[in-house]
Amino acid sequence: MLSQGLSHIIFNASNSEDFERAIQFYTGLGFKNLSEKEQTDETVVWLKLCSDSNVVIKLVFSTSAFPQRKPANDVDWSLEEAAIAFSITDVEAVKFKLDELVASFQDHSKDGLTQIYVLDPLNNLILLTNKAPSVLKTTSAAAAVEVAASNGKRQKIAVLTSGGDAPGMNAVVRAVVRYGITKGCDIFAVYEGYQGLVDGGSLLRKMDWKSVRGWLSVGGTSIGTARCMPFKTREGRLKAAENLVVNGIDALIVCGGDGSLTGADLFRGEWAGLIEELESTDRITKEQAEKYNVLTIVGLVGSIDNDMSSTDITIGAVTSLHRICEAVDAVSTTALSHSRAFVIEVMGRHCGWLALMAGIATGADFVFIPEKPPQQNDWESFMCSVVERHRHLGKRKTVVIVAEGAIDKNLNPIKAEYLKDILTNRLGLDTRVTILGHTQRGGSPAFFDRLLATTQGIEAVNAVLEATKDTPTPMIGMTDNKITRFPLMKAVKLTHEVAEAISVKNFGRAMELRDPQFAEEFEAYNATTIMDDNSLCLPAHERLRIAIIHTGAPAGGMNAATRTAVRYCLNRGHTPIAVNNGFVGLARGSMNEMSWMSVDGWTALGGSELGTNRAVPGEDIDMGMVAYQLQKNRIQAIMVIGGFEAFVALRKLEEARGQYPSLRIPIALIPATISNNVPGTDYSLGSDTSLNAIVTSCDAIVQSASSSRRRVFVVEVMGGRSGYLAVEAGLAVGANTVYIPEETINLARLQADVNHLKAMYTDDDPDKSEGRIILRTEDVSKTYTTEVISDILKEEGTEMFDSRTAVLGHTQQGITPSPLDRIRATRLSKHCIEFFEQHTSEALNSANGRRAVVPIELTNCSESVAVAGINGSAVIFPSITELLKITDMKNRKPRTAWWTEHRPIIDLLAGRGFFKA
Ligand code: ADP
Repeated sequence: MLSQGLSHIIFNASNSEDFERAIQFYTGLGFKNLSEKEQTDETVVWLKLCSDSNVVIKLVFSTSAFPQRKPANDVDWSLEEAAIAFSITDVEAVKFKLDELVASFQDHSKDGLTQIYVLDPLNNLILLTNKAPSVLKTTSAAAAVEVAASNGKRQKIAVLTSGGDAPGMNAVVRAVVRYGITKGCDIFAVYEGYQGLVDGGSLLRKMDWKSVRGWLSVGGTSIGTARCMPFKTREGRLKAAENLVVNGIDALIVCGGDGSLTGADLFRGEWAGLIEELESTDRITKEQAEKYNVLTIVGLVGSIDNDMSSTDITIGAVTSLHRICEAVDAVSTTALSHSRAFVIEVMGRHCGWLALMAGIATGADFVFIPEKPPQQNDWESFMCSVVERHRHLGKRKTVVIVAEGAIDKNLNPIKAEYLKDILTNRLGLDTRVTILGHTQRGGSPAFFDRLLATTQGIEAVNAVLEATKDTPTPMIGMTDNKITRFPLMKAVKLTHEVAEAISVKNFGRAMELRDPQFAEEFEAYNATTIMDDNSLCLPAHERLRIAIIHTGAPAGGMNAATRTAVRYCLNRGHTPIAVNNGFVGLARGSMNEMSWMSVDGWTALGGSELGTNRAVPGEDIDMGMVAYQLQKNRIQAIMVIGGFEAFVALRKLEEARGQYPSLRIPIALIPATISNNVPGTDYSLGSDTSLNAIVTSCDAIVQSASSSRRRVFVVEVMGGRSGYLAVEAGLAVGANTVYIPEETINLARLQADVNHLKAMYTDDDPDKSEGRIILRTEDVSKTYTTEVISDILKEEGTEMFDSRTAVLGHTQQGITPSPLDRIRATRLSKHCIEFFEQHTSEALNSANGRRAVVPIELTNCSESVAVAGINGSAVIFPSITELLKITDMKNRKPRTAWWTEHRPIIDLLAGRGFFKA
């Protein structure tokens, strides 16, 4: 409706590009193009808002038109003389649209009065306001325009958690709510799982930005979950559909296990029928039936068992593994004290992921999983022989881990009590059973689950917004370290196939249906733990003397990698030789042969048992001495475990090969540094441990800051010239922003951050304001130190907020390596030994299979000096020569990094761009 007597508004364009952009802009805001372009001496387009509206814009392109003056960005547009005012009702949808159109705007809204000043491509200033046209004063024209209602895709999305609770579900809800809001959606939480959908009412609640404050660190699900029988009936689902329609919701994000996701897909499949029935029984109107004729569903897998096919990992599984490993580590000390055996039962009815990973991570003596039962008829005797052998080697403790769904090859259940009786009666071991039960579900989510849940929650909202009525229901998963969408029902079908394959004893198929890494881990576990019976031993002439060295700062997983290397070496007939104190020790010849028992218990040990330092051969240490000691000790392969110094060391060793024949042996680096800055790998050992340590510290700091109400903590983290730790931890703790070496830090940036903090504190309830956290990488700037930034914030925050610093320092190395670091260590270490075997067997072949001389000659073979890298779900060995091409030696890191895509999420979920000062 036009007011003040205007019949239409005329906008003039002086060039064709601006004219086209103006058409795009106004059609983007919801105007319909009424006419073809008229091609007279001037080009005219008529745009109308909607069929029953008489708001009409006449866009005129004429070369003789006078271009409009553009107001400067840094002046207050609300003070400009002329603006065309449009009245709007749906402010958020309009902001969403403006973001989409990448329009310049200034938001001068306050006290419930929306005043958004926008520049159109012709430099006309448009005021979008929720004020009624009749009371508009400052403008030259006023029009009542329902921009959002006519065009903005303002989706109402409901999110629910269902089935067994899993740590990380809250992080999902937080990400969905906050990201959804920034996308201009209304987000509803459905409390109590499907029950909330069936009952509706107060169980369906609209969420705002603050509703999910602090949820990242909370385990379980704060919106509740329930097993809901009514939803399994059509009548229940009919009520659920009615509640959704009545509340205007047409998209549902479900986080749960395969049962919950099956229910969701069934609901979507039935939707048309449900709507028809609701309309025919007058429970909804015809208009509602038409408007809500499609239901969009997106599934997220929240399951501690990691039992869903088509995704490498599910939300909650890693945290559960943390709980299990903590428990096994704890009983290990009592087992050791009393020389006892423990049988530990973990969750997993059809899935052995938790049992197997816990077995690898804790160095258990035997593991039982449903997908791969022991192949022996008399498996009891086989287990006893393994345990007995370990005891004879000197072990004082025995740990057997059994999944709750473990079976023998004839499908008879293998129960913890039965295992206890066997160990007690046959081996005379004092054996106890520990059933971990629900402790496995509990506690604050581990770093990995927070990251997974957040990135997947965002992807779920994107999937909703991109869905069409023909899109198959997607399940958000993760494959090869990347977030994926996979047809939900296909994933559910494959998941059910695992149980079916097991039930018909097709164990090969059951293993196949798991991700490829699972089978590889199972094989690695057996090869390093069970098969120490000479069955894997190589012929004498292929056995190697392998040196193991730690270099650089300590990192979680160094000892676990060493343990696997030693045990696997021994199983293959190689001689593992530990070098003490890094390359300094190597130059002195400080090394000793390792025995099976010498590394017992090392999986759970943090730091470096061999001793480590930053000295690099060829830089700090005489290369000649290193070469001499390698020759003297007849070393035929070197495993270096370390960070960027180790990378430099490998480069130096490679370069010196021409000069020293004893260096012409395979050399591999297992990346181990909390900074995760070694080229050639997605992850280095120690980085996950460190992130968990940082997240735990930051949770405590946030709690303190929140208790003090208005306090911003500037937390300094390590990382050298890499922002990895700050970005990943920032995302997992909900940091307000991060300062990282990859970005500039200057006064303008700090000013913007101060403004944002002020906007956030202005929006806070006066009695409930939040403590906030900012992470800063140690080497980000010499000028803007942690103290300086904190002082600036304190000064600028005036009455609004206060600031403090926290420097986490060496606590970031963590105490006990995280399960993921232990598992990665085991895997990389076994691959390394295989790498040595492969490269030395090539040398053997070229020597006509004769017994190789020491050292084995590997001239001109740069591939034999490599980094053992994790690449998605594979382990690869890129050579140092290749990696140098993608390395920024000055800043000691790879030139590009996969994790940089996480950086924008921090600002987005901190309300940047949404809350304006
Ligand atoms: P999970 O999602 O962890 O596998 P359940 O199998 O117990 O857990 O499912 C959780 C809830 O999902 C059930 O209580 C029920 O409300 C709903 N649900 C499960 N399977 C179906 C189904 N086939 N049809 C409809 N709803 C289902």
